[in-house]
Amino acid sequence: MMAENYMAVNYRAELVGVLGDPVAENPTGVMQEAAFRAAGLNWRYLTIQVKPDDLADAIRGVRAFGMRGINLTIPHKVEVMQYLDEIAPDAQKIGAVNTVRRVGDQLVGENTDGKGFLRGLQVDAKFNPAGKRVVILGAGGAARAVSTELVLAGATELIIVNRTHSRGEQMVNDVRQRTGAAISLVPWNETFVVPPEADLLVNATSIGLYPHGDDMPDISLERARPDLLVSDVVFNPPETPLLRAARERGHPTLDGLSMLVYQGVIGFELWTGRDAPEAVMKEALKQALGLA
Ligand code: NDP
Repeated sequence: MMAENYMAVNYRAELVGVLGDPVAENPTGVMQEAAFRAAGLNWRYLTIQVKPDDLADAIRGVRAFGMRGINLTIPHKVEVMQYLDEIAPDAQKIGAVNTVRRVGDQLVGENTDGKGFLRGLQVDAKFNPAGKRVVILGAGGAARAVSTELVLAGATELIIVNRTHSRGEQMVNDVRQRTGAAISLVPWNETFVVPPEADLLVNATSIGLYPHGDDMPDISLERARPDLLVSDVVFNPPETPLLRAARERGHPTLDGLSMLVYQGVIGFELWTGRDAPEAVMKEALKQALGLA
């Protein structure tokens, strides 16, 4: 007979993590592990370097280990799609997956980058994109995710400003075709003057990213409306020269930490089915980046 004070033990942790190359400086693990501790969950987040040629084997490993999910970062966000069982509609429209969740024995691809940006817009900046006009700098992965989610959330007009014309054209065509968006491309070969019609400006380039933290996109805010919301996806450092200049002119701003925290919050919710301890996650991230 079992003793009354017998306690069932379970040393097996649930596993999630991130695959990337390079990946060592990715701070998401710190944020997720803090959240698991706060929620009393015996889960681990592993930061794993995977070379491009090893991605297929790595996804087999995710299945073999029964991992609950995985994040993907550079250079795996597009390549991973061929190894998954299902791709969520938003991720299909974006054309990339940054989060995989396991449903039974199926691996389902999601994209939380743009959703994280949207949640930050709504929660931190109190900005509703429905009916709004948006200027996005950049045409890479972040720009695709952010612009697609903004269209799905009801933004009425998007202007994409990109240095390399062919890349900008490809992105604009893809987003228009997949979402029906009113989206146009402006070449970026001289200072871009943000028009007074714009409600939201998003820097979705890597300009201002460490170790080039003094760099500023070549734009002018001279004609912008005072209530233009100026946002940046760059989170290291979170106060970019663009955001500083915007704040000095009196514009409301939103930094890239917000997007990073909320994409992690959404990942936690997808994986665990629980509400995420948002404040704990934000604090852990700030500490990891030396900001707390
Ligand atoms: P990509 O390499 O896919 O795209 C980079 C974009 O930046 C391209 O449009 C590129 O233009 C443009 N760019 C880079 N340097 C310059 C420059 N000197 N002048 C003009 N344009 C430039 O990168 P991602 O989209 O994946 O990432 C972009 C940024 O977003 C990174 O800083 C990344 O850290 C950040 N990010 C933040 C997240 C968050 O949660 N806060 C999540 C995901 C990304 P061109 O086409 O001409 O090369």
